[in-house]
Amino acid sequence: MICQGCHLVAGSFLCERCRRDLRPAPERILQGGIRVVAAFEHVGVARDLVLGLKYRGLTYFADLVVETIARRALALPVVPVPRTWSRQVRYGIDPAREIAIRLARAHGSPMLDLLSPPFHTSRRAGGDHHRPPPRFGMRRPPEGRIVLVDDVVTTGATIVSAASVLGPGRIALVIAANLADTVSSQR
Ligand SMILES: [Zn+2]
Repeated sequence: MICQGCHLVAGSFLCERCRRDLRPAPERILQGGIRVVAAFEHVGVARDLVLGLKYRGLTYFADLVVETIARRALALPVVPVPRTWSRQVRYGIDPAREIAIRLARAHGSPMLDLLSPPFHTSRRAGGDHHRPPPRFGMRRPPEGRIVLVDDVVTTGATIVSAASVLGPGRIALVIAANLADTVSSQR
């Protein structure tokens, strides 16, 4: 097997050296008191792995994220923040949904597709965070509290936008694969 971090031969999808490069992320509280628990800081190997998930459909990282974080999540229905349609079609994968499926399975909770994605939105990842966040539609309202799942949380604007649609009081917790540093973009 080839390590997805360093592309050398390894015993699993991630060699020991790359595994040691993964840094646990601190918790973050977003606007409105929404709590974000992410598996890793969005740097180095963790950043490469999330990009592999998003753009090359390498889902081993989704398994690792859920292994790492399932104990810190709550056993509530799991709702993914959907990727825009245009990117789902282009890359053939919705990364948050891959994580949500696995988290729901780990807890024996349902995964609910409550949000519908915008067709297209300007690119945010790694770029301009001053653009407006995507506007989601709601397929149906949540019946109780839920765990919201996204792949990378940066400014949190996408989460706040999704929460405004679902009802902020419904979000018990946000689970993410990676948490990106926003110190510079928040100022
Ligand atoms: Zn490696």
